[in-house]
Amino acid sequence: MNQYLLLTPGPLTTSETVKQAMMQDWCTWDEDYNSAIVQVIREKLVGLATADQGYSSVLMQGSGTSTVEATIGTLLGNSDKLLVIDNGVYGKRISEIATYLNIEQTVLSFPEKAIPDLLKIQKVLDEDKAITHVAMVHCETTTGILNPATDVAFLVKSYKKVFILDAMSSFGGIPMDIGDMQVDALISSANKCIQGVPGFGFVIVKTALLEVCAGRARSLSLDLYEQWQTMEKQQGKWRFTSPTHVVRAFYQALLELEAEGGVEARYQRYSHNQQLLTKGMSELGFKALVAPSMQSPIITAFYSPEHPDYNFKQFYGLLKQQGFVIYPGKVSDTDCFRIGNIGEVYRQDIEKLLIALKSCCFWEKV
Ligand SMILES: *Cc1c(COP(=O)(O)O)cnc(C)c1O
Repeated sequence: MNQYLLLTPGPLTTSETVKQAMMQDWCTWDEDYNSAIVQVIREKLVGLATADQGYSSVLMQGSGTSTVEATIGTLLGNSDKLLVIDNGVYGKRISEIATYLNIEQTVLSFPEKAIPDLLKIQKVLDEDKAITHVAMVHCETTTGILNPATDVAFLVKSYKKVFILDAMSSFGGIPMDIGDMQVDALISSANKCIQGVPGFGFVIVKTALLEVCAGRARSLSLDLYEQWQTMEKQQGKWRFTSPTHVVRAFYQALLELEAEGGVEARYQRYSHNQQLLTKGMSELGFKALVAPSMQSPIITAFYSPEHPDYNFKQFYGLLKQQGFVIYPGKVSDTDCFRIGNIGEVYRQDIEKLLIALKSCCFWEKV
């Protein structure tokens, strides 16, 4: 059915069975949908994130950004202040959300090709006592860098601040226990490592933290607290029309994650994809943007060839004709492109991709 493989970090390539799950219509208020699917999904998500019983999960309509916005806009009160740790596009987006919502903030920016420096974070926390919440991206999808979430969470919690982690592109693909890490709220979405289709995001959040957030939201439809209350009190009901087909596909995707062997097995598959890709790319003369010590198994950025005849559009088009869709670069001062390692993508796919890539290096033949 697939005309080409999406080697992009969400939407990504999904299985046939995930796509087939969308071939039925569901009634949003019927218990076959709410109790049987939504409540089970909510429970499974908490189980994937932690063994700690002090967490609940909330699903929210929209793209991943909507859920980040709902989380920031609901967890922070009017007198709270956010510290945003930024080293890429998605870190900057959290700050943009705070600006839109008129939430007081400090942004601590690091170069896009570096990981956040703990000593600098500590200095800001020492100096600015008004900070109540800290937000950071886990895998910065801009570069593929994996930020040190465990260390940052430990530091932030030693200052007793609320820690919010945008684990959009890593949750389900990288093992973690947010209870052990002391992450207060983790945000992700349906169309990344769980391998569902786009349409909703979700938050796994400390129940005690969410309980005190009634009336804080700056937006009706992005009120995380009210959405949570409705799901809790009405057996999984969403406040407004839910993306039923997407939810159904997500449920199937969760079953497939379990069948694969859980997050650890998926992490192994993605890691092998990533390593095989980087090795093959290096043999073709492509250099990875990020050092192996910082590199996530999620997405890999490569410097664009410096040859005068190279151009991304033509390269992209030739690869697409051979059945592979890659992703343009987004790093501000560096010409690069990205290849996603996640989704229904296996070793054989990467092997075929490498053969296709070799034949698409048109500039070398000029
Ligand atoms: C994909 C992604 C988002 C959300 O993007 P949407 O386009 O709104 O779904 C946020 N943060 C990170 C790190 C991401 O990879």
